[in-house]
Amino acid sequence: MRRAYLDNNATTPLLPEVFEAMRPHFLERFGNASSIHQQGQQARSAVEHAREQVAELLNCRAAEIVFTSGGTEGDNLALFGLVQPGDHVITSAIEHHAVLNSCNRLEQMGCSVTYVPVDGRSLVDPDDVRRALRPETKLISIMMANNETGVLQPVAEIGKLAAETDVYFHTDAVQAAGKVPLEVKEIGCDLLTISAHKIHGPQGTGALFVRKGTLLQPLFYGGRHERSRRAGTENLAGIVGLGRAAEIARQGFSDESVARMKGLRDSLEKAILEGIEQVAVNGAGAPRVPNTANISFDCIEGEAMVIALDLKGLSVSTGAACSSGAIEPSHVLTAMGLSADRARGSIRFSLGKQTTAEDVDFARSLVPDVAARLREISPVYKKSASALS
Ligand code: PLP
Repeated sequence: MRRAYLDNNATTPLLPEVFEAMRPHFLERFGNASSIHQQGQQARSAVEHAREQVAELLNCRAAEIVFTSGGTEGDNLALFGLVQPGDHVITSAIEHHAVLNSCNRLEQMGCSVTYVPVDGRSLVDPDDVRRALRPETKLISIMMANNETGVLQPVAEIGKLAAETDVYFHTDAVQAAGKVPLEVKEIGCDLLTISAHKIHGPQGTGALFVRKGTLLQPLFYGGRHERSRRAGTENLAGIVGLGRAAEIARQGFSDESVARMKGLRDSLEKAILEGIEQVAVNGAGAPRVPNTANISFDCIEGEAMVIALDLKGLSVSTGAACSSGAIEPSHVLTAMGLSADRARGSIRFSLGKQTTAEDVDFARSLVPDVAARLREISPVYKKSASALS
């Protein structure tokens, strides 16, 4: 059976070039980067090369990169590394749970947190961030691109505000990396999180940009790895994979692969909007990353649609992968003002570098039929259709 994978915001497949770069480090080049001997030196130089590659993607110094086990750890290191009991944090209502649940824990530890709202396009208003500032505000943590809608936040404006008011600024750029250029100086952030598996690198590896001079308490205690910011033997093959994936991600802005992805996403969105009634793009009208289309289908249960499409060979998602199976509607979509029903009827289509025009054609051929079939058996749809006629 033909299959197409349009769930790249959950994870992306490893690119063959990335796998080839990693392969020797599972076998003959297996050293511990802290060892003095030859194998250790080879490992150290591979780790430092990867650090340079990641630094080039973010346009920062190599020494400002801390390797982590992924986006969740990067977000946790940024928040728990900086914030102390009594401090105030500003974040948004639509962050990934890696930030939101960390903020909940910070509140239990005696910090206060303001969750700024978003508008109907899921945009944070920098003036809301400004109004939330207090003398004890230590950190602003606002994501760059949302994982469900792909909407890009005005991070450069927020970064400017943070610099003017002498507050640290962290941005979770896990879903922005490889899709839009990331310039830490332009964003004006002190901390920025990325994750390898969202840019066609391996799962379980990531990096946190930590601006020079930003003192972080480590999450783990152990050796002096990563300049004492992250103890534990480096994940050599994973880090090499992240480095190569970062290099390819940077090239994507000049080799047209990002532009091609946008063309495919736009054609899919257009086909769904034109071919199916009572649908809407969530986040329409806001700046968005080029690979994501989050579409609400009235009178359809999103989980039922995901399952029906999966049975026909198309992998998509209802939102954040980690909340699959949850009965609760997406916190991102409800924060934008969608009703619980509309939020539950929303599907995320997310493309990757490997996505082909045939994959998109396949999706275009399946979605209208599946939507029609699900509506046929929906009592709510029947009622709304007869009310219209
Ligand atoms: N932040 C965002 C915006 C994400 O989309 C994700 C993963 O979906 C994470 C953080 C967590 O990253 P990881 O899976 O590498 O822990």
